[in-house]
Amino acid sequence: MIDVSIVIPVYNEEESLPDLFGRLFPVVEALDRPAEVIFVNDGSSDGSLRMLLEEARRKDYVRVVDFNGNFGQHMAIMAGFSMARGDKIITLDADLQNPPEEIPRIVAEMDRGHDMVGTYRAMRKDPAITRKIPSKLVNWVTNRITGLNIRDYGCMLRGYDRRIVDLINMCKETTTFLPALGKRFAQNPVEIPVSHEERHKGTSKYGLYQLIRLNFDLMTGFSMVPLQAVTITGLLVSVGSLVFALYLLIRRLLVGSEAEGLFTLMAINFFLMGILLFGVGIAGEYVGRIYLEVRQRPRYLIRAVYPEDPKP
Ligand code: UDP
Ligand code: MG
Repeated sequence: MIDVSIVIPVYNEEESLPDLFGRLFPVVEALDRPAEVIFVNDGSSDGSLRMLLEEARRKDYVRVVDFNGNFGQHMAIMAGFSMARGDKIITLDADLQNPPEEIPRIVAEMDRGHDMVGTYRAMRKDPAITRKIPSKLVNWVTNRITGLNIRDYGCMLRGYDRRIVDLINMCKETTTFLPALGKRFAQNPVEIPVSHEERHKGTSKYGLYQLIRLNFDLMTGFSMVPLQAVTITGLLVSVGSLVFALYLLIRRLLVGSEAEGLFTLMAINFFLMGILLFGVGIAGEYVGRIYLEVRQRPRYLIRAVYPEDPKP
């Protein structure tokens, strides 16, 4: 019987792994409970896999899932979830931005009966202009749109109890955002502050484009509000232009027709075209998601699991 499973996605983290091992394993051993650590190698092209396998050979509580390509952080955690045997499942990034030393606090909250323990970064150490301020804004907008009320979407150090992970395992969506999915199923969630460190080694695996994509997935995957916003905007613009047309009609009867204002008209037209394209894009996001789902391709491919199952 395993009590705590720790799931860690790894993508080209050879520089961070030695420090991670050095700090994580003592914490796991000090928990003094039956525990396992599941690393999911998300198609790393550096020496990460070799280093993970070495640890799996050395420690019987370490398991490694090796992906056949890069399927993204959330899919890697999903695969870890489907393997995890523990009652409490904790996710952690490999880059040590979330200190492994916080794990016992999450376990303690779960012992207290919370089925999902979220965290937020107190004193976040990331560049303000490129990360902190945009992420504050994104957290706020996302919470308004999805109604989820998660304080820090970017913090992946979280604990989920068995029931929530079982429910997540039943979800077969191809793009997802795990903390949001977990929060949807949680009955007694709590959020605690955790310390945050800079990324000491290696570089962030998320560029601006990936971050924008992730947020679109989050908003369209957990809410219909963007679609409804387009509808309502269309409605308001129609009402506005009707009022404007009536005004022009009356003006024409009273004052006569107007001839100036060609460029104003163009500006208004471009504005409306912008709204139109935006609306098409939003609708397209949902259609794209439907397309991804109906293809029913496997969400990720596992090349091997170590140590191999002892079952015949
Ligand atoms: N990661 C992954 N697959 C990816 C991108 C990232 O498994 O395609 C892992 C990465 O190794 C790390 C975690 O997800 O353990 C978070 O990535 P990162 O620190 O680069 O994201 P950031 O903290 O910059 O948002
Ligand atoms: Mg990071």
